[in-house]
Amino acid sequence: MSNLLREENTNGLTTNTSNPNILIVDDEPLIREILCEILSTEEYTTEQACDGVEALEKFKQQPSSFDLLIIDLKMPRMDGMALLAHIRKISLTHPVIVLTGHGSLENAYSLLQEYRIFDFFNKPLNSSDRLLFSVKNALEKAQLISKLMKLTKKLKLSNQKLTELSSYDSLTGLYNRRMFVEYTSHAIALVKRNNKSLGILYFDLDDFKKVNDTYGHSIGDHLLIQVSDRVKSIVRESDVFGRIGGDEFALLIEGDIDSIELINISKKILNAFSKPMYLNKQPIYITSSIGIAVLIDKKDTAEKLIQKADTAMYNAKKSGRNCYMFYSDIMNKIACAQLEMESGIRNALTNNEFSLYYQPKIDFKTGRISGAEALIRWIHPEKGIISPGEFIPIAEKSDLIIDIGKWTRETVLQQLVVWKNNNFPLIKISVNVSGKEFVKREVLQHLLDMFMKYDISPSWLELEITEDTLIKSVEEGNTDYRVIQGMDVGLAIDDFGTGYCSLGYLKEYPFETLKIDKSFIDNVIHNERDASIVRTIIAMAHNLNMSVVAEGVENEEQRNFLVDNNCDLLQGFFYSKPQPIDQFENFIKSFNEI
Ligand code: C2E
Ligand code: CA
Ligand code: CA
Repeated sequence: MSNLLREENTNGLTTNTSNPNILIVDDEPLIREILCEILSTEEYTTEQACDGVEALEKFKQQPSSFDLLIIDLKMPRMDGMALLAHIRKISLTHPVIVLTGHGSLENAYSLLQEYRIFDFFNKPLNSSDRLLFSVKNALEKAQLISKLMKLTKKLKLSNQKLTELSSYDSLTGLYNRRMFVEYTSHAIALVKRNNKSLGILYFDLDDFKKVNDTYGHSIGDHLLIQVSDRVKSIVRESDVFGRIGGDEFALLIEGDIDSIELINISKKILNAFSKPMYLNKQPIYITSSIGIAVLIDKKDTAEKLIQKADTAMYNAKKSGRNCYMFYSDIMNKIACAQLEMESGIRNALTNNEFSLYYQPKIDFKTGRISGAEALIRWIHPEKGIISPGEFIPIAEKSDLIIDIGKWTRETVLQQLVVWKNNNFPLIKISVNVSGKEFVKREVLQHLLDMFMKYDISPSWLELEITEDTLIKSVEEGNTDYRVIQGMDVGLAIDDFGTGYCSLGYLKEYPFETLKIDKSFIDNVIHNERDASIVRTIIAMAHNLNMSVVAEGVENEEQRNFLVDNNCDLLQGFFYSKPQPIDQFENFIKSFNEI
């Protein structure tokens, strides 16, 4: 029965329960008449055919008009067997009862199997009851089968719907295409609201078809599972990762993304395939091509963006595979420039192309330079001086910023040692610490190492940490700054007022110094709001025993305003631009009248 159900046929029977119609096929008119007679006692309607050819013609015209066939095996022109073969091609389910002459039943069982015969009768018919019973039985069975078939069909459809509605790819457990698109649409809507961006990495395996053709589909499936596992292990748990179909995967990257970050992730993915996959303990080397699309045109839909990433992947394949490519040419150019910059920074570190410039901080009460901020410059052999604004953000995307930070602190300590050895009056030097160094907890150990190496009191060094870095590390439970404070290294909150530092933070994390961001100083004369913010910050900091530095002081009015409001230290072009060390030394000498 299960076979019957599986091979359902649209030409199948529709059981006419009220008045079943029976086709009687026999070459002997008398037999036909007897059968009709018997069947009419039970309100069956009948039709007759004198051989296979006539029967087939009738049946073909409208199979559903017959609920049952009674077929004689021995007939001229087309015998019962041939007729059955034809009928079963049209309908697998119509119930058939076979009439045979005496003794021709030896192959009954195989007939039963092959043509799904419901019952057999030997001629001459000697029991009308048995016939009626068999007919009734056959019709009931057929009805049941038809019901079951309808149910199975329904079940199939609902299963299909369920799969369509499901969110996951059954092979890899990743999101399926539908879900990936849905997530992307949602993310795009969010991005439009908060002015961020997002990117899609779309990749597939180079030559996956070959693997499938060589090893078969089930091995191919294994490979896809391994691929998804490897990539899963290198992306963030929060990243939306989906299998789009076949060997194509897509990764949605949200947040503060830029091309460098997307490249880094792409590199990680390519790198994940550098080690072989194992199929049946046999190593298989595969590579991948990645297309990257960034939401630049905010009108793009999820589908459109995915399609762009797909196009980019196609281009990556064309340009030699095992690589990544952005969708837009401009992005490719920016990415190239940034990559160039990255390797430039690496060279600069080994070739000693970095240099520190120093900008003095003036203590208005004493009128003397009491400290300075060390600011990095890249003295490029061809391009000249490159400002940190150009390369620090790129260094921050890779671990280069860690090396830069170390270099800066060590250079400052070396300078302090030189001054100390030359009896040059020491001043406190502050250095900028990038958020990433702090988050990666690189700073504390480095300071410990450096103060072992250089004989200088930690109190001459100050770290400038932005508000946001402070908040982030506090939220992550990073308490390194307490140890640093305990070492007597100064701590200053940099760019104060631009982040989201609450007053509560200041109370709980009493750094020594607070630097008011330049943007407030810029407008302090002409904008009463900024002026009152600056006044408040100074008063509040003093209440918390912090000293206040104003950065970006460019003119006398600003200086006077800050002095009038008791700002402790002033830093800005009004006094001096950041200068190379020898000029800076001369500047101190004349300013402080040493
Ligand atoms: P920042 O920490 O806010 O540094 C102050 C910036 O303002 C410096 O720019 C300085 O030259 C500039 N500046 C100071 N006074 C004035 C003024 O009166 N007018 C104007 N228009 N600008 C003034 P710079 O040297 O280009 O540094 C930019 C940023 O790069 C710094 O901002 C800091 O965040 C970062 N940076 C610089 N050196 C380092 C470093 O060694 N490590 C790290 N991680 N970041 C650094
Ligand atoms: Ca600073
Ligand atoms: Ca600043």
